[in-house]
Amino acid sequence: MIPSARLPLAALPLAAALLAPCLAAAPPDFLRLTLDGVPVEFHEGDAGPARDSARALAWAAERLQRDTGLLLTPQPTLALARGREEFDLLCGRAMPPWSVAAALPRSNRIILDAGKAPPASPEARALLFHEAVHLALARLETGRADRLPLWLHEGLATWLSGARHLHGPRTDFDLAAAHNALIPLERLRDTFPERSSEADMAYAQSEAFVAHLVNRSGVEALCAFFRLYADGVSFDETFRAAFGRSLPEAESEWRDALAGRFKWLWATLGALTFWGFMALATVAVFFLVSWRARRQRRTWEREEEEWGIVAQEPEEEDDPDDGEPWSPKEDRR
Ligand SMILES: [Zn+2]
Repeated sequence: MIPSARLPLAALPLAAALLAPCLAAAPPDFLRLTLDGVPVEFHEGDAGPARDSARALAWAAERLQRDTGLLLTPQPTLALARGREEFDLLCGRAMPPWSVAAALPRSNRIILDAGKAPPASPEARALLFHEAVHLALARLETGRADRLPLWLHEGLATWLSGARHLHGPRTDFDLAAAHNALIPLERLRDTFPERSSEADMAYAQSEAFVAHLVNRSGVEALCAFFRLYADGVSFDETFRAAFGRSLPEAESEWRDALAGRFKWLWATLGALTFWGFMALATVAVFFLVSWRARRQRRTWEREEEEWGIVAQEPEEEDDPDDGEPWSPKEDRR
């Protein structure tokens, strides 16, 4: 579990949400509105935060679909709880003290403790994005026996949302990475550690591994992974097809890179958020397009030379200002 002091945006591991025994109905005094296609339940006086939350979730759904192909339809219902007691009630169970939001795939709901995360804050927007990723991934898993590993859920949700674990002090992660002492991903497949320090490490390295995969193979590989998995291909086959190697090979490569002499480079790449990566990718595409244009131009020029085509210089019109520079001597003449 993640201590809230270290990570205010601590989000609920999806496994816990899936195990929620039952879901309490919304309190009868809840008001409801739908904005940008997002239904929101809230208390009287919270209409402003409800609208902010709806816009944030709609934005998250749009970005997810545009950039990764993940769908969040139908839109989940968002409930704004006031305080810990109501948050637990809406989640259907006693939640960990650090938990601020929860994704409930069975009922297609996201519960936000609006008392701890004001809906207009950047933290709340990132948190809603984080939970939206969990719900979108849970839709891909519907009816499947081989669910996505928990490390992938949390790594993707954290990296895509920008609710970053790697933004905080990274000493522990860097030290563990340099000494090849990270937790094996297999141990993070179905559960995360209970102890806060180990859980912190689990979240940080899940995010770092996802960032490594995308930095190495591109966002296209991530999109291909989602498409193949949605088509029913097994997780292992999907991973190999999308990222070009098996999970054990990729994990081994990642560990070696972190521990090796390019540790600083991978650490830098791993510190990129999804949005930072997309910005860099945009710049890279610009330079690639420019480079291709220059290369094409040089090819045309070579072809023209081979065919004896001489570029026609435009005829110059007589210009009274053209010619020899003016000199006082000429002027006298
Ligand atoms: Zn999460």
